[in-house]
Amino acid sequence: MVVGGGPAGIFAIETLRDLAPADEITLISDEPAYSRMVLPYLMAGEISEEHVFTGKDRYFERLKVKTLIQRVDRVEPRGKTLTLADASTVPFDTLLIATGSSPLRADIPGASGPGVSNLWTLADARAILSRVKGKKAKVVFAGAGFIGFIVLNALAKTGCELQVVEVEPQILPRMLDRRSAELASKWLEKKGVACHVGVRATEIADRGGRKVVTLSDGRSLTCDLVVIAVGVRPNLDLVKDSGIRTNHGILVDDHLRTNIPDVYAAGDVAEGIDLSTGTPAVHAIQPTAVEHGRVAGANMAGRAVAYAGSLGMNILDVVTLQTASFGLWGGDGKETTVVENASRPIYRKLVWDGDRIAGAIFLGPAVDVALLNDLGMVKGLIQTRTRLGAWKAHLQKNPMDIRRPYVASKVAVKLLEQTLLDAETGERRYRFADARPESQPTSAHTIFVSTKPSG
Ligand SMILES: Cc1cc2nc3c(=O)[nH]c(=O)nc-3n(C[C@H](O)[C@H](O)[C@H](O)COP(=O)(O)OP(=O)(O)OC[C@H]3O[C@@H](n4cnc5c(N)ncnc54)[C@H](O)[C@@H]3O)c2cc1C
Repeated sequence: MVVGGGPAGIFAIETLRDLAPADEITLISDEPAYSRMVLPYLMAGEISEEHVFTGKDRYFERLKVKTLIQRVDRVEPRGKTLTLADASTVPFDTLLIATGSSPLRADIPGASGPGVSNLWTLADARAILSRVKGKKAKVVFAGAGFIGFIVLNALAKTGCELQVVEVEPQILPRMLDRRSAELASKWLEKKGVACHVGVRATEIADRGGRKVVTLSDGRSLTCDLVVIAVGVRPNLDLVKDSGIRTNHGILVDDHLRTNIPDVYAAGDVAEGIDLSTGTPAVHAIQPTAVEHGRVAGANMAGRAVAYAGSLGMNILDVVTLQTASFGLWGGDGKETTVVENASRPIYRKLVWDGDRIAGAIFLGPAVDVALLNDLGMVKGLIQTRTRLGAWKAHLQKNPMDIRRPYVASKVAVKLLEQTLLDAETGERRYRFADARPESQPTSAHTIFVSTKPSG
């Protein structure tokens, strides 16, 4: 039994079906199966709504999965049953809880009703689109975190006029350090996006058919739409008083097992091992949801697969300025190597743990193809915990020359040898058997396929 049809649930189901062809699988989710992370592409008009869904009837028939669109209100592990919103009960043998997370409510008077929205669900995306489509709408973002900026980037492509309000003294406080955030803010200002940092939105009011956001420093911003993006929290309600151990999320071990036999958790709702620290953490990101889902699915199918842990990472397009951070990017007392060219702008920070790279921040224009390659190589160096020996001194002197230490320390070979499920990845035949790409390459593809970037 799988609760939640997001990426963690769907990847668990595909893995389970591959490894246990005869098992009965039921998916219960309160929404159809779709990908939240493609919603910004829908909003930017780059894909149709059809492409948001990750599985429909034919797909589930092929996987021999029974589906039920219902909310699960309660998990009762002792009786091995779920209580649904219509008060019916459903028995399970093995359970995966993959209920994801929900946006936090903003503690701002007026932060509800028409013209104020989160962007977390397909319904939110439709509501925002209906408000901004076809006009040069003014939008204010309350919260300047990763999700807020993903939405901001999508709306920037549609010609909206954008402003950001962030209570912390910098934008993207959980992804960039102070200096890289300053460079990103300056870039945004040049692109016409105003960032108001160190101030709080204290009220949202209606005036003449528009929204007025009052700030703690007395200023006010008039707009057509307010997007609230102040963080997310795991959906734990269904395990309340169940005996399943929780901290920030549902605590799971390296097999994605909870403290209760036959009950697993994966994705945004799970607090599993952080690869960088070896301690439990909630990483509410797609790569963790996918890896958790696959590892949980394999273990539910009877394989004993241990998970090394998930790497905290964020990769974000800030209105064509690429930003990324991995692992222990903050530095916090550790040795760091920093290069900066404020005029381009370029910013790179490597955080050292002895002769290993433990974290990194990258910032630079998207047309720098080297930047995109380099951030993949540094991610590999962090993931494989490669000891660089003498190459550390080389990198400290030449921080832009990632390629040579990467090749010399055979990171690609190590990555090829690493498999999530102790087996080679097979073709994902359930999904792509008869699919053909329908969309035309966009300017984003050009970066990867052209020999000389334009612009
Ligand atoms: C707009 C947007 C853009 C994003 N972009 C990125 C990105 O670029 N990169 C990245 O790494 N991450 C991104 N994310 C985050 C990423 O989408 C999540 O980390 C991922 O969806 C988590 O997957 P999940 O399966 O754990 O949970 P979810 O995708 O949230 O799926 C959980 C499902 O369970 C259902 N459910 C919840 N409670 C119950 C219940 N009690 N009963 C039944 N069903 C229930 C939910 O409705 C949902 O359908 C983005 C998120 C958003 C909203």
